[in-house]
Amino acid sequence: MAFDPELATQAYMATLKGAARAKSDAYFEGGYWLILWDFLVTVIANLIVLHLGWAARLSTWARGVSGKWGAGPMLAALLFAVPYLLIVTLITAPYTIYVEYFREHAYGLSNQGFGEWGGEQLIVIAANTLIAAILWMGVHAVIRRFPRGWWIGGTALTIAVLVTTITLAPVYLDPLFNDYTPLPDGPVKTEVLKMARANGVPADNVYLVDASKQSDRISANVAGLFNTTRIALNDNLMKQDLHEIRSVMAHELGHYVLNHIWKLLLAFAVLTALSFGIIGVVGPLLLARFGARWGISGMADPACLPVLVMIFAAMSVLATPIGNSLVRINEQEADMFGLNAARAPDGFARIAMKLSQYRKIEPGHWEEIIFFDHPSGHTRVATAMRWKAEHVDEADIH
Ligand SMILES: [Zn+2]
Repeated sequence: MAFDPELATQAYMATLKGAARAKSDAYFEGGYWLILWDFLVTVIANLIVLHLGWAARLSTWARGVSGKWGAGPMLAALLFAVPYLLIVTLITAPYTIYVEYFREHAYGLSNQGFGEWGGEQLIVIAANTLIAAILWMGVHAVIRRFPRGWWIGGTALTIAVLVTTITLAPVYLDPLFNDYTPLPDGPVKTEVLKMARANGVPADNVYLVDASKQSDRISANVAGLFNTTRIALNDNLMKQDLHEIRSVMAHELGHYVLNHIWKLLLAFAVLTALSFGIIGVVGPLLLARFGARWGISGMADPACLPVLVMIFAAMSVLATPIGNSLVRINEQEADMFGLNAARAPDGFARIAMKLSQYRKIEPGHWEEIIFFDHPSGHTRVATAMRWKAEHVDEADIH
């Protein structure tokens, strides 16, 4: 009897049922609502900062200090941003702790105690605050200099900061949380490096990361830019069967070879320019209407940041399906590349089933387009089984 990809896909789907399927569906569907709650919490926190006059007072203080030091408005913007960001972080902390700690534990998706998790969060907050404050210093200088055309320079600066952060992350940020070591000798190393070299990826760019200290999630990723680019597989993946590992690493090689980081940066630049263009219109309108009440004179006051953050948050919610689809299309490309490079459709299908621990396995058509930043398990298994059906008679298929 000929191999039937439909039946094979259904057979894989049938291995996830009952309570396990209900649990991963609930975890993932809850995430849809979190997009809305994230937005509302951000808006509420910023309205508190504005309505209680904290933004105005922070701005007066920041401009006073920078004036006393003989420094210009750039330092004032930096001095405003740091405490403002920390205050918003503090107001939203109960929500963040629920979502990222208690909710993850409720679904059995975290291996960390509260102290360990909290310690990592403090590093994340410090890094985010520093990067965002420096970005605001630059963007606000552009706003003051070019009140109409600032969205162009603002976008260029944002992308420059993003490129710098992505480039430096594997060297300065990632090691603060995990250990990255060269792959240990053995069949996995042999097979992964064989595929890497066959696809033009330098072998010394492949690492093992101890992600099991945070969770049991099976994962691998491509990080960095220029000479810091590296592919890392995590120790949870390392515990899987060899052909499952090969199928995932072939997918990651696809991201690398197809220059996905650069393509996403380009797409992000377009979305940022669009958002900044809209902020440039809506921001001054909101400030004209509520500025007097909030004690903010206009866009030249660094205290306009909370207003811009609220508009940007709204834009981000609206752009969710676009952002998810851009990423998901890259992921589909990497899936195809991976199937061709590893020739392990069943290894890939088994991994797709294991990833359903935290991703709904069989969503509706539009549900996948709007909410999924990776193909669903069903899409991945169906793709792998179609590939298998068309190569099933060839040698060395796993
Ligand atoms: Zn991927």
